[in-house]
Amino acid sequence: MNTVLEAARETPVLREADILVVGGGPAGFSAAVAAARLGAKVTLLERYNHLGGLATGGLVFWLPGYCPGGSRVYGGIALEWVQRVERDGGTSYRDITETKQGAMADPELLKQHALEMALEAGVDLIFHAWAASAIIRDGRVQGAIIESKSGRHALLAQMVVDGTGDADLVAWSNGEFVTGSKGLSLPYRLGGVNFDRYQAFRSDQPELFATLARELKERWENRMPVWPNPRCHNDLAWMNYWGPIGYNAVSVDDLTRAEIELRKNIFGSLRFFREKVPGFEGCFLVDTACQIGTRDSRRIVGGYTLTMKDMRSRATFNDTIGRMCDNTLVEITCDIPYRCLVPRGVEGLLVAGRPIDVDPQVHEASRLVPPSLVTGQAVGTAAWLAVKESIPPRAVDLAVLQRTLHEAGVYISTLAAPEDRAKKEPPSSATLAELATREDSD
Ligand SMILES: Cc1cc2nc3c(=O)[nH]c(=O)nc-3n(C[C@H](O)[C@H](O)[C@H](O)COP(=O)(O)OP(=O)(O)OC[C@H]3O[C@@H](n4cnc5c(N)ncnc54)[C@H](O)[C@@H]3O)c2cc1C
Repeated sequence: MNTVLEAARETPVLREADILVVGGGPAGFSAAVAAARLGAKVTLLERYNHLGGLATGGLVFWLPGYCPGGSRVYGGIALEWVQRVERDGGTSYRDITETKQGAMADPELLKQHALEMALEAGVDLIFHAWAASAIIRDGRVQGAIIESKSGRHALLAQMVVDGTGDADLVAWSNGEFVTGSKGLSLPYRLGGVNFDRYQAFRSDQPELFATLARELKERWENRMPVWPNPRCHNDLAWMNYWGPIGYNAVSVDDLTRAEIELRKNIFGSLRFFREKVPGFEGCFLVDTACQIGTRDSRRIVGGYTLTMKDMRSRATFNDTIGRMCDNTLVEITCDIPYRCLVPRGVEGLLVAGRPIDVDPQVHEASRLVPPSLVTGQAVGTAAWLAVKESIPPRAVDLAVLQRTLHEAGVYISTLAAPEDRAKKEPPSSATLAELATREDSD
Protein backbone atom coordinates (compact mmCIF):
# COMPACT_ATOMS: atom_id res chain seq x y z
CA MET A 1 0.00 0.00 0.00
CA ASN A 2 1.19 3.53 -0.81
CA THR A 3 1.90 5.68 2.23
CA VAL A 4 2.14 9.38 3.13
CA LEU A 5 4.25 10.88 5.86
CA GLU A 6 2.10 12.88 8.28
CA ALA A 7 3.57 15.94 9.95
CA ALA A 8 4.24 15.64 13.66
CA ARG A 9 1.74 17.64 15.67
CA GLU A 10 0.74 18.56 19.17
CA THR A 11 -2.60 17.01 20.07
CA PRO A 12 -4.74 18.68 22.73
CA VAL A 13 -5.75 16.51 25.71
CA LEU A 14 -9.54 16.52 25.93
CA ARG A 15 -9.85 14.45 29.14
CA GLU A 16 -7.69 12.91 31.86
CA ALA A 17 -9.38 10.16 33.85
CA ASP A 18 -8.56 7.26 36.14
CA ILE A 19 -10.06 4.87 33.63
CA LEU A 20 -10.81 5.28 29.94
CA VAL A 21 -13.29 2.83 28.46
CA VAL A 22 -13.32 2.69 24.67
CA GLY A 23 -16.61 1.39 23.27
CA GLY A 24 -20.04 1.75 24.88
CA GLY A 25 -21.43 -1.70 24.03
CA PRO A 26 -22.58 -4.18 26.69
CA ALA A 27 -18.97 -4.78 27.79
CA GLY A 28 -17.80 -1.16 27.79
CA PHE A 29 -20.94 0.31 29.33
CA SER A 30 -20.87 -2.30 32.11
CA ALA A 31 -17.15 -1.68 32.77
CA ALA A 32 -17.67 2.08 32.98
CA VAL A 33 -20.66 1.82 35.33
CA ALA A 34 -18.88 -0.72 37.59
CA ALA A 35 -15.75 1.42 37.93
CA ALA A 36 -17.63 4.69 38.41
CA ARG A 37 -19.86 3.18 41.10
CA LEU A 38 -16.71 2.27 43.02
CA GLY A 39 -15.54 5.88 42.90
CA ALA A 40 -13.30 5.97 39.82
CA LYS A 41 -13.24 8.94 37.47
CA VAL A 42 -14.31 7.25 34.25
CA THR A 43 -14.50 8.49 30.67
CA LEU A 44 -16.52 6.34 28.27
CA LEU A 45 -16.02 6.88 24.54
CA GLU A 46 -18.56 5.68 21.96
CA ARG A 47 -18.53 6.36 18.23
CA TYR A 48 -22.34 6.26 17.83
CA ASN A 49 -25.09 8.22 19.62
CA HIS A 50 -26.15 5.60 22.16
CA LEU A 51 -24.94 2.94 24.59
CA GLY A 52 -25.57 -0.78 24.29
CA GLY A 53 -23.54 -1.58 21.16
CA LEU A 54 -24.97 -4.38 19.08
CA ALA A 55 -27.62 -5.10 21.74
CA THR A 56 -29.25 -1.79 20.85
CA GLY A 57 -27.87 -0.15 17.69
CA GLY A 58 -27.21 -3.57 16.20
CA LEU A 59 -30.83 -4.68 16.83
CA VAL A 60 -29.57 -7.79 18.60
CA PHE A 61 -31.76 -8.06 21.67
CA TRP A 62 -32.36 -11.73 22.36
CA LEU A 63 -30.75 -12.13 25.77
CA PRO A 64 -30.23 -15.76 26.82
CA GLY A 65 -30.16 -16.72 30.48
CA TYR A 66 -33.09 -14.66 31.83
CA CYS A 67 -36.57 -15.63 32.93
CA PRO A 68 -39.49 -13.47 34.08
CA GLY A 69 -38.40 -11.58 37.20
CA GLY A 70 -34.77 -12.64 37.18
CA SER A 71 -32.08 -15.00 36.00
CA ARG A 72 -30.73 -18.31 37.19
CA VAL A 73 -27.32 -17.37 35.80
CA TYR A 74 -26.69 -13.64 35.89
CA GLY A 75 -26.47 -11.05 38.69
CA GLY A 76 -24.85 -7.65 39.03
CA ILE A 77 -25.15 -5.21 36.13
CA ALA A 78 -26.12 -8.02 33.74
CA LEU A 79 -29.28 -8.56 35.76
CA GLU A 80 -29.94 -4.95 36.71
CA TRP A 81 -30.01 -3.68 33.12
CA VAL A 82 -32.58 -6.27 31.99
CA GLN A 83 -34.69 -5.86 35.12
CA ARG A 84 -34.86 -2.10 34.64
CA VAL A 85 -36.14 -2.67 31.12
CA GLU A 86 -38.54 -5.34 32.38
CA ARG A 87 -40.02 -2.92 34.94
CA ASP A 88 -40.78 -0.58 32.01
CA GLY A 89 -42.63 -3.40 30.24
CA GLY A 90 -39.85 -3.79 27.68
CA THR A 91 -39.15 -7.53 27.86
CA SER A 92 -40.93 -10.63 26.68
CA TYR A 93 -40.11 -14.24 27.38
CA ARG A 94 -40.80 -17.20 25.14
CA ASP A 95 -40.36 -20.95 25.30
CA ILE A 96 -39.17 -20.83 28.90
CA THR A 97 -38.36 -24.30 30.25
CA GLU A 98 -36.29 -25.59 33.15
CA THR A 99 -33.16 -25.68 31.02
CA LYS A 100 -33.76 -23.07 28.29
CA GLN A 101 -34.37 -19.44 29.11
CA GLY A 102 -34.06 -16.03 27.52
CA ALA A 103 -35.56 -12.57 27.20
CA MET A 104 -36.27 -10.31 24.26
CA ALA A 105 -35.69 -6.72 25.28
CA ASP A 106 -36.78 -3.50 23.63
CA PRO A 107 -33.69 -1.86 22.11
CA GLU A 108 -34.75 1.74 22.77
CA LEU A 109 -35.41 0.98 26.45
CA LEU A 110 -32.07 -0.82 26.66
CA LYS A 111 -30.40 2.32 25.28
CA GLN A 112 -32.21 4.60 27.71
CA HIS A 113 -31.52 2.49 30.80
CA ALA A 114 -27.85 2.06 29.88
CA LEU A 115 -27.61 5.84 29.55
CA GLU A 116 -29.38 6.44 32.85
CA MET A 117 -27.19 3.89 34.65
CA ALA A 118 -24.05 5.54 33.26
CA LEU A 119 -25.22 9.05 34.19
CA GLU A 120 -26.37 7.98 37.66
CA ALA A 121 -22.92 6.46 38.27
CA GLY A 122 -21.23 9.69 37.20
CA VAL A 123 -19.60 8.35 34.02
CA ASP A 124 -18.21 11.10 31.77
CA LEU A 125 -19.61 10.30 28.31
CA ILE A 126 -18.19 11.18 24.91
CA PHE A 127 -20.40 10.20 21.96
CA HIS A 128 -19.75 10.78 18.25
CA ALA A 129 -15.99 10.21 18.41
CA TRP A 130 -13.81 7.38 17.14
CA ALA A 131 -10.73 6.05 18.86
CA ALA A 132 -8.08 6.01 16.13
CA SER A 133 -5.00 4.74 17.96
CA ALA A 134 -3.61 3.87 21.37
CA ILE A 135 -1.33 6.19 23.30
CA ILE A 136 1.59 4.12 24.55
CA ARG A 137 4.07 5.74 26.93
CA ASP A 138 6.67 4.05 29.14
CA GLY A 139 5.66 0.70 27.63
CA ARG A 140 2.08 1.04 28.87
CA VAL A 141 -1.23 1.98 27.25
CA GLN A 142 -2.14 5.35 28.70
CA GLY A 143 -5.03 6.50 26.58
CA ALA A 144 -6.32 6.88 23.05
CA ILE A 145 -6.24 9.36 20.20
CA ILE A 146 -9.74 10.19 19.05
CA GLU A 147 -11.20 11.90 15.97
CA SER A 148 -14.49 13.77 15.98
CA LYS A 149 -16.23 16.84 14.58
CA SER A 150 -14.11 18.79 17.09
CA GLY A 151 -10.93 17.49 15.52
CA ARG A 152 -8.21 15.23 16.86
CA HIS A 153 -7.73 14.87 20.63
CA ALA A 154 -6.01 12.75 23.23
CA LEU A 155 -7.78 11.03 26.12
CA LEU A 156 -5.41 10.08 28.93
CA ALA A 157 -6.01 7.57 31.71
CA GLN A 158 -4.16 5.42 34.19
CA MET A 159 -5.95 2.29 32.94
CA VAL A 160 -7.70 1.63 29.66
CA VAL A 161 -10.50 -0.85 28.97
CA ASP A 162 -10.93 -2.14 25.44
CA GLY A 163 -14.68 -2.47 24.92
CA THR A 164 -14.60 -2.09 21.14
CA GLY A 165 -15.81 -5.65 20.53
CA ASP A 166 -12.98 -6.00 18.03
CA ALA A 167 -9.99 -5.59 20.39
CA ASP A 168 -8.96 -2.45 18.47
CA LEU A 169 -6.79 -1.17 21.32
CA VAL A 170 -5.06 -4.55 21.63
CA ALA A 171 -4.27 -4.56 17.90
CA TRP A 172 -3.01 -0.95 18.00
CA SER A 173 -0.76 -1.78 20.99
CA ASN A 174 0.77 -4.82 19.27
CA GLY A 175 -0.95 -7.22 21.66
CA GLU A 176 -1.46 -10.82 20.58
CA PHE A 177 -4.75 -11.91 19.04
CA VAL A 178 -6.25 -14.49 16.71
CA THR A 179 -8.62 -13.58 13.91
CA GLY A 180 -12.00 -15.20 13.52
CA SER A 181 -14.57 -14.66 10.82
CA LYS A 182 -18.26 -15.31 11.09
CA GLY A 183 -19.30 -12.77 8.53
CA LEU A 184 -21.26 -9.59 8.93
CA SER A 185 -24.97 -8.98 9.20
CA LEU A 186 -27.48 -6.21 9.48
CA PRO A 187 -30.60 -7.14 11.46
CA TYR A 188 -33.82 -5.36 10.52
CA ARG A 189 -37.49 -5.26 11.37
CA LEU A 190 -40.54 -5.76 9.22
CA GLY A 191 -43.89 -4.20 10.16
CA GLY A 192 -47.43 -5.09 9.13
CA VAL A 193 -46.94 -8.81 9.78
CA ASN A 194 -49.82 -11.09 10.68
CA PHE A 195 -47.98 -13.41 13.03
CA ASP A 196 -50.97 -15.65 13.77
CA ARG A 197 -51.34 -16.38 10.06
CA TYR A 198 -47.57 -16.94 9.75
CA GLN A 199 -47.44 -19.33 12.74
CA ALA A 200 -50.44 -21.25 11.40
CA PHE A 201 -48.65 -21.59 8.05
CA ARG A 202 -45.49 -22.85 9.80
CA SER A 203 -47.35 -25.57 11.67
CA ASP A 204 -49.85 -26.50 8.92
CA GLN A 205 -47.38 -26.67 6.02
CA PRO A 206 -43.95 -27.54 7.45
CA GLU A 207 -42.61 -28.85 4.14
CA LEU A 208 -43.49 -25.72 2.19
CA PHE A 209 -42.13 -23.65 5.06
CA ALA A 210 -38.81 -25.56 4.92
CA THR A 211 -38.64 -25.11 1.12
CA LEU A 212 -39.20 -21.36 1.41
CA ALA A 213 -36.68 -21.07 4.25
CA ARG A 214 -34.09 -22.82 2.05
CA GLU A 215 -34.86 -20.56 -0.91
CA LEU A 216 -34.61 -17.45 1.28
CA LYS A 217 -31.23 -18.56 2.58
CA GLU A 218 -29.89 -19.43 -0.88
CA ARG A 219 -31.10 -16.32 -2.67
CA TRP A 220 -30.82 -13.66 0.00
CA GLU A 221 -28.68 -15.10 2.84
CA ASN A 222 -31.63 -14.49 5.17
CA ARG A 223 -33.74 -16.68 7.42
CA MET A 224 -37.34 -16.93 8.51
CA PRO A 225 -38.18 -15.04 11.70
CA VAL A 226 -38.85 -17.05 14.81
CA TRP A 227 -40.67 -14.59 17.04
CA PRO A 228 -42.26 -11.21 16.81
CA ASN A 229 -40.40 -8.19 18.11
CA PRO A 230 -41.10 -7.61 21.83
CA ARG A 231 -44.01 -5.38 22.88
CA CYS A 232 -45.15 -4.45 19.39
CA HIS A 233 -48.66 -5.81 19.13
CA ASN A 234 -47.52 -8.93 17.37
CA ASP A 235 -47.16 -7.25 13.98
CA LEU A 236 -43.43 -6.51 13.92
CA ALA A 237 -40.96 -9.22 12.89
CA TRP A 238 -37.38 -9.13 14.12
CA MET A 239 -35.00 -10.36 11.42
CA ASN A 240 -31.81 -11.68 12.98
CA TYR A 241 -29.81 -13.89 10.63
CA TRP A 242 -26.33 -15.03 9.62
CA GLY A 243 -25.25 -12.90 6.69
CA PRO A 244 -22.70 -13.71 3.99
CA ILE A 245 -19.32 -14.92 5.22
CA GLY A 246 -15.92 -13.96 3.84
CA TYR A 247 -15.98 -10.33 4.95
CA ASN A 248 -13.43 -9.00 7.41
CA ALA A 249 -15.11 -6.97 10.16
CA VAL A 250 -12.04 -4.79 10.71
CA SER A 251 -11.50 -3.84 7.05
CA VAL A 252 -13.13 -0.59 5.95
CA ASP A 253 -13.46 -1.87 2.37
CA ASP A 254 -15.10 -5.11 3.49
CA LEU A 255 -17.47 -3.22 5.80
CA THR A 256 -18.51 -1.05 2.86
CA ARG A 257 -18.95 -3.98 0.47
CA ALA A 258 -20.89 -5.94 3.09
CA GLU A 259 -23.18 -2.99 3.80
CA ILE A 260 -24.06 -2.80 0.06
CA GLU A 261 -24.67 -6.55 -0.25
CA LEU A 262 -26.68 -6.75 2.97
CA ARG A 263 -28.98 -3.94 1.90
CA LYS A 264 -29.55 -5.63 -1.47
CA ASN A 265 -30.39 -8.86 0.40
CA ILE A 266 -32.76 -7.10 2.78
CA PHE A 267 -34.80 -5.62 -0.07
CA GLY A 268 -34.70 -8.95 -1.92
CA SER A 269 -35.97 -10.64 1.23
CA LEU A 270 -38.68 -8.03 1.65
CA ARG A 271 -40.03 -8.79 -1.82
CA PHE A 272 -39.70 -12.54 -1.14
CA PHE A 273 -41.69 -12.26 2.09
CA ARG A 274 -44.44 -10.20 0.47
CA GLU A 275 -44.82 -12.54 -2.47
CA LYS A 276 -44.41 -15.93 -0.85
CA VAL A 277 -44.84 -16.07 2.90
CA PRO A 278 -48.35 -16.16 4.39
CA GLY A 279 -48.78 -13.43 6.98
CA PHE A 280 -46.21 -11.17 5.31
CA GLU A 281 -48.30 -10.05 2.31
CA GLY A 282 -48.53 -6.44 3.52
CA CYS A 283 -45.21 -6.18 5.32
CA PHE A 284 -42.90 -3.18 5.06
CA LEU A 285 -39.38 -2.36 6.20
CA VAL A 286 -39.47 -0.47 9.51
CA ASP A 287 -35.75 -0.09 10.19
CA THR A 288 -32.30 -1.56 9.67
CA ALA A 289 -29.67 -1.66 12.41
CA CYS A 290 -27.56 1.49 12.55
CA GLN A 291 -24.54 -0.66 13.41
CA ILE A 292 -23.47 -3.48 11.14
CA GLY A 293 -22.56 -6.45 13.31
CA THR A 294 -20.02 -9.22 13.41
CA ARG A 295 -20.11 -12.29 15.58
CA ASP A 296 -16.33 -12.70 15.54
CA SER A 297 -13.39 -10.52 14.53
CA ARG A 298 -10.37 -10.54 16.84
CA ARG A 299 -9.99 -12.71 19.93
CA ILE A 300 -7.15 -11.84 22.28
CA VAL A 301 -4.45 -14.16 23.52
CA GLY A 302 -4.68 -13.77 27.28
CA GLY A 303 -3.48 -15.79 30.23
CA TYR A 304 -5.92 -18.67 29.68
CA THR A 305 -8.06 -19.92 26.80
CA LEU A 306 -11.45 -21.10 28.05
CA THR A 307 -12.37 -24.31 26.22
CA MET A 308 -15.44 -26.33 25.36
CA LYS A 309 -14.14 -29.03 27.68
CA ASP A 310 -14.34 -26.48 30.53
CA MET A 311 -17.86 -25.60 29.51
CA ARG A 312 -19.08 -29.19 29.29
CA SER A 313 -17.71 -29.97 32.74
CA ARG A 314 -19.09 -26.70 34.13
CA ALA A 315 -15.60 -25.79 35.24
CA THR A 316 -14.90 -23.53 38.19
CA PHE A 317 -11.68 -21.51 38.51
CA ASN A 318 -9.87 -19.89 41.42
CA ASP A 319 -9.67 -16.64 39.46
CA THR A 320 -13.33 -16.64 38.44
CA ILE A 321 -14.91 -13.21 37.91
CA GLY A 322 -18.42 -14.45 37.13
CA ARG A 323 -20.14 -17.06 35.07
CA MET A 324 -22.01 -17.49 31.85
CA CYS A 325 -24.38 -20.07 30.49
CA ASP A 326 -24.23 -21.82 27.20
CA ASN A 327 -26.40 -19.86 24.80
CA THR A 328 -29.94 -20.63 26.00
CA LEU A 329 -29.01 -23.66 28.13
CA VAL A 330 -29.11 -22.29 31.66
CA GLU A 331 -28.29 -25.72 33.06
CA ILE A 332 -24.77 -25.48 31.63
CA THR A 333 -22.86 -22.73 33.35
CA CYS A 334 -19.15 -22.14 33.44
CA ASP A 335 -16.88 -19.79 35.39
CA ILE A 336 -15.04 -17.11 33.41
CA PRO A 337 -11.42 -16.81 34.61
CA TYR A 338 -9.92 -13.35 35.03
CA ARG A 339 -6.91 -14.48 32.97
CA CYS A 340 -9.11 -14.56 29.82
CA LEU A 341 -9.49 -10.77 30.08
CA VAL A 342 -5.84 -9.80 30.50
CA PRO A 343 -4.13 -9.45 27.10
CA ARG A 344 -0.66 -10.89 26.72
CA GLY A 345 2.13 -8.51 25.76
CA VAL A 346 0.30 -5.25 26.63
CA GLU A 347 0.38 -3.30 29.88
CA GLY A 348 -2.29 -0.93 31.19
CA LEU A 349 -5.09 -2.54 29.20
CA LEU A 350 -7.96 -4.94 30.00
CA VAL A 351 -10.40 -6.48 27.54
CA ALA A 352 -14.06 -7.44 27.91
CA GLY A 353 -16.87 -8.65 25.68
CA ARG A 354 -16.64 -10.44 22.36
CA PRO A 355 -12.83 -10.61 22.06
CA ILE A 356 -11.93 -12.38 25.34
CA ASP A 357 -9.63 -15.40 25.25
CA VAL A 358 -11.83 -18.45 24.52
CA ASP A 359 -11.80 -21.21 21.95
CA PRO A 360 -14.09 -20.90 18.89
CA GLN A 361 -16.74 -23.21 20.38
CA VAL A 362 -16.97 -21.39 23.70
CA HIS A 363 -16.99 -18.15 21.74
CA GLU A 364 -20.51 -19.06 20.55
CA ALA A 365 -21.60 -18.46 24.15
CA SER A 366 -19.07 -15.95 25.49
CA ARG A 367 -19.61 -13.45 22.65
CA LEU A 368 -23.27 -12.99 23.62
CA VAL A 369 -24.57 -9.88 25.33
CA PRO A 370 -25.03 -11.24 28.91
CA PRO A 371 -21.48 -12.67 29.29
CA SER A 372 -20.14 -9.42 27.78
CA LEU A 373 -21.88 -7.54 30.58
CA VAL A 374 -20.27 -9.90 33.11
CA THR A 375 -16.74 -9.50 31.74
CA GLY A 376 -17.32 -5.74 31.46
CA GLN A 377 -18.23 -5.46 35.12
CA ALA A 378 -15.16 -7.52 36.01
CA VAL A 379 -12.65 -5.42 34.06
CA GLY A 380 -14.17 -2.14 35.27
CA THR A 381 -13.75 -3.38 38.83
CA ALA A 382 -10.24 -4.77 38.25
CA ALA A 383 -9.13 -1.58 36.49
CA TRP A 384 -10.17 0.51 39.49
CA LEU A 385 -8.40 -1.84 41.93
CA ALA A 386 -5.26 -1.58 39.79
CA VAL A 387 -5.44 2.23 39.69
CA LYS A 388 -5.99 2.48 43.45
CA GLU A 389 -2.98 0.28 44.20
CA SER A 390 -0.85 1.65 41.30
CA ILE A 391 -0.24 -1.91 40.12
CA PRO A 392 -0.63 -3.63 36.75
CA PRO A 393 -3.97 -5.38 36.23
CA ARG A 394 -2.39 -8.83 36.33
CA ALA A 395 -1.22 -8.08 39.91
CA VAL A 396 -4.72 -7.27 41.21
CA ASP A 397 -5.57 -9.15 44.42
CA LEU A 398 -8.04 -11.79 43.23
CA ALA A 399 -9.69 -12.18 46.62
CA VAL A 400 -10.47 -8.45 46.72
CA LEU A 401 -11.65 -8.46 43.11
CA GLN A 402 -13.98 -11.40 43.74
CA ARG A 403 -15.32 -9.99 46.99
CA THR A 404 -16.03 -6.62 45.33
CA LEU A 405 -17.86 -8.30 42.46
CA HIS A 406 -19.76 -10.59 44.83
CA GLU A 407 -20.89 -7.57 46.87
CA ALA A 408 -22.12 -5.99 43.62
CA GLY A 409 -24.35 -9.02 43.02
CA VAL A 410 -22.17 -11.04 40.62
CA TYR A 411 -22.22 -14.82 41.13
CA ILE A 412 -18.70 -15.88 42.17
CA SER A 413 -18.45 -19.64 42.59
CA THR A 414 -15.58 -19.45 45.09
CA LEU A 415 -17.77 -17.29 47.32
CA ALA A 416 -21.10 -19.00 46.66
CA ALA A 417 -22.97 -20.14 49.71
CA PRO A 418 -22.22 -23.84 50.43
CA GLU A 419 -25.82 -24.78 49.62
CA ASP A 420 -25.47 -23.14 46.16
CA ARG A 421 -22.37 -25.19 45.44
CA ALA A 422 -24.01 -28.38 46.69
CA LYS A 423 -26.92 -27.82 44.28
CA LYS A 424 -24.56 -28.12 41.35
CA GLU A 425 -25.36 -31.36 39.61
CA PRO A 426 -23.90 -32.43 36.29
CA PRO A 427 -25.94 -31.29 33.28
CA SER A 428 -28.37 -33.87 31.99
CA SER A 429 -27.38 -35.93 28.97
CA ALA A 430 -30.25 -34.23 27.10
CA THR A 431 -28.75 -30.76 27.54
CA LEU A 432 -25.27 -32.03 26.73
CA ALA A 433 -26.67 -33.46 23.50
CA GLU A 434 -28.24 -30.07 22.77
CA LEU A 435 -24.91 -28.43 23.42
CA ALA A 436 -23.29 -30.73 20.88
CA THR A 437 -25.87 -29.87 18.20
CA ARG A 438 -26.29 -26.26 19.14
CA GLU A 439 -28.19 -24.30 16.55
CA ASP A 440 -26.90 -20.91 15.44
CA SER A 441 -29.90 -19.26 17.01
CA ASP A 442 -28.49 -15.79 17.53
C1 LIG B 1 -26.21 -10.35 13.64
C2 LIG B 1 -25.84 -10.64 15.06
C3 LIG B 1 -26.76 -11.24 15.88
C4 LIG B 1 -26.46 -11.50 17.20
N1 LIG B 1 -27.44 -12.02 17.98
C5 LIG B 1 -27.26 -12.05 19.33
C6 LIG B 1 -28.35 -12.34 20.19
O1 LIG B 1 -29.48 -12.56 19.74
N2 LIG B 1 -28.11 -12.36 21.52
C7 LIG B 1 -26.89 -12.07 22.06
O2 LIG B 1 -26.76 -12.08 23.29
N3 LIG B 1 -25.84 -11.77 21.25
C8 LIG B 1 -26.00 -11.74 19.93
N4 LIG B 1 -24.96 -11.38 19.10
C9 LIG B 1 -23.63 -11.12 19.69
C10 LIG B 1 -23.56 -9.82 20.47
O3 LIG B 1 -24.40 -8.84 19.95
C11 LIG B 1 -22.16 -9.20 20.58
O4 LIG B 1 -21.14 -10.14 20.50
C12 LIG B 1 -22.10 -8.39 21.88
O5 LIG B 1 -22.87 -7.22 21.67
C13 LIG B 1 -20.68 -8.07 22.28
O6 LIG B 1 -20.62 -6.95 23.14
P1 LIG B 1 -19.37 -5.99 23.09
O7 LIG B 1 -19.65 -4.89 24.06
O8 LIG B 1 -18.13 -6.78 23.24
O9 LIG B 1 -19.31 -5.43 21.59
P2 LIG B 1 -20.35 -4.51 20.77
O10 LIG B 1 -21.75 -4.81 21.12
O11 LIG B 1 -19.92 -4.65 19.34
O12 LIG B 1 -20.01 -3.03 21.28
C14 LIG B 1 -18.80 -2.39 20.94
C15 LIG B 1 -19.04 -0.89 21.01
O13 LIG B 1 -17.82 -0.22 20.80
C16 LIG B 1 -17.99 0.83 19.86
N5 LIG B 1 -16.71 0.99 19.16
C17 LIG B 1 -16.06 0.03 18.46
N6 LIG B 1 -14.90 0.50 17.99
C18 LIG B 1 -14.81 1.78 18.41
C19 LIG B 1 -13.83 2.79 18.23
N7 LIG B 1 -12.71 2.55 17.55
N8 LIG B 1 -14.06 4.00 18.78
C20 LIG B 1 -15.21 4.25 19.49
N9 LIG B 1 -16.17 3.32 19.68
C21 LIG B 1 -15.97 2.10 19.15
C22 LIG B 1 -19.09 0.34 18.94
O14 LIG B 1 -19.74 1.42 18.31
C23 LIG B 1 -19.99 -0.42 19.92
O15 LIG B 1 -20.98 0.41 20.48
C24 LIG B 1 -25.19 -11.16 17.73
C25 LIG B 1 -24.25 -10.56 16.92
C26 LIG B 1 -24.57 -10.30 15.59
C27 LIG B 1 -23.55 -9.62 14.73
